[in-house]
Amino acid sequence: MAGLTDLTLKAALDGLAAKAFSSEEITRAHLEAVEAARPLNAFVLETPERALDMARAADARRARGEAGPLEGAPIGIKDLFCTEGVRTTACSDILADFTPTYESTVTANLFRDGAVMLGKLNMDQFAMGSSNETSSFGPVVNPWRRAGGGPDLTPGGSSGGSAAAVAARLCLGATATDTGGSIRQPAAFTGTVGIKPTYGRCSRWGIVAFASSLDQAGPIARTVEDAAILLTSMAGHDPRDSTSLPVETPDFAGFVGKSVKGLRIGVPKEYRVDGMPAEIDALWEQGIAWLKDAGCEIVEVALPHTRYALPAYYIVAPAEASSNLARYDGMRYGLRVEGANLLETYEQTRARGFGEEVKRRILIGAYVLSAGYYDAYYLKALKVRRRIAEDFDRAFEKVDALLTPTAPSAAFALGENASDPVAMYLNDIFTVTVNLAGLPGMSLPAGVDAAGLPLGLQLIGRALDEGTLFSLGGALEKAADFRGRPERWW
Ligand code: GLN
Repeated sequence: MAGLTDLTLKAALDGLAAKAFSSEEITRAHLEAVEAARPLNAFVLETPERALDMARAADARRARGEAGPLEGAPIGIKDLFCTEGVRTTACSDILADFTPTYESTVTANLFRDGAVMLGKLNMDQFAMGSSNETSSFGPVVNPWRRAGGGPDLTPGGSSGGSAAAVAARLCLGATATDTGGSIRQPAAFTGTVGIKPTYGRCSRWGIVAFASSLDQAGPIARTVEDAAILLTSMAGHDPRDSTSLPVETPDFAGFVGKSVKGLRIGVPKEYRVDGMPAEIDALWEQGIAWLKDAGCEIVEVALPHTRYALPAYYIVAPAEASSNLARYDGMRYGLRVEGANLLETYEQTRARGFGEEVKRRILIGAYVLSAGYYDAYYLKALKVRRRIAEDFDRAFEKVDALLTPTAPSAAFALGENASDPVAMYLNDIFTVTVNLAGLPGMSLPAGVDAAGLPLGLQLIGRALDEGTLFSLGGALEKAADFRGRPERWW
């Protein structure tokens, strides 16, 4: 039943509730789509039997009148989330066939609410990257192609598998994580909606750690409402994560469709960077006009430390990564390459198991944390981080949310930036500020470039004010009326 894969999550849940089809039927339809889409390389592990078991259990619960909010809805899980009894690799050789004996809190929350897992999704290795090319399973191919052909494109990263799978109708939604843009940039590159909630909204427990003070889980979906439904299930206080916020989770879907009249929207002039394609600038202007039409007041704001955000991020994130990744020593998880003695075993395991980008981050991180350089780099980056957060605090005295582009370009070709790490890092210029400040940020598709590729707009909100982002996202989604979808070639 191919039509079932075209439904939004909301429509699918309504159809399941009305018994128009069963979870087993909609799960089978998606499993077929996943199998047919192997050329995209979006899934690194398909779990069809488990999915069908979960679907049948969901149907049984529904028949007993015990349906949860996501009962029977098939979704994909980024391979950074530990899934009990299901291989979890962070797309790195060093984790090899690591199979967790526990479930991450976020996936446990989704399964508690009835979601069905189709499999594990490809991503940049340890979530380090902006193009999915650092995955040990090879890159994901963006289902979108430039009009008139051309090379295969990246779906963005690190949650490229999640974004590609959602865009290609392989799942109704997916989990993702965002340390410096990994939900929002792939969403922008694939015409999907992604939200990184406030730091602390979703538990990090059971998510393979990259940079702990920045890592945050969130959903990628095809509509703002679908993202709201998923986030409502994913979020919630968890005593097992000391940074998890002890706050209630609102019903985020209730904010979609609410009037945004009278909201003040900040436009930060510092996000108008040199060399940004004119189409992105034009889309930003269009977004401003749409929000004006919806009754918002547009205010120019200053975020003067924006230009220091990327350098600060690329010090703080590797520093934390070098510390987090120290645990992969060949003793506890996955790969072990035996050396002549313990030290050699450590060295050879890490040399073989980690990819190039991961090694680069570990080296940078160890360097900026080392005795002679700590003050000059790491401490300074922390100070910059504070300034960036203060910029936002000041802006939010005047406005309710900010509107910016999500990324400085549309999806680029696989291989285009792969040999130039700095060019790759520049992709994160509009997204890392939000992580450094711990704020919620949403990307939604708002238009296409001259080649017909989707472009995203980003909304940034006050801490714990995802609700306003869902209202604004709903308004922009309605105005943009983005119906583009990738034409099937796989
Ligand atoms: N592209 C950024 C990086 O490589 C962000 C990654 C992420 O958000 N996980 O670090």
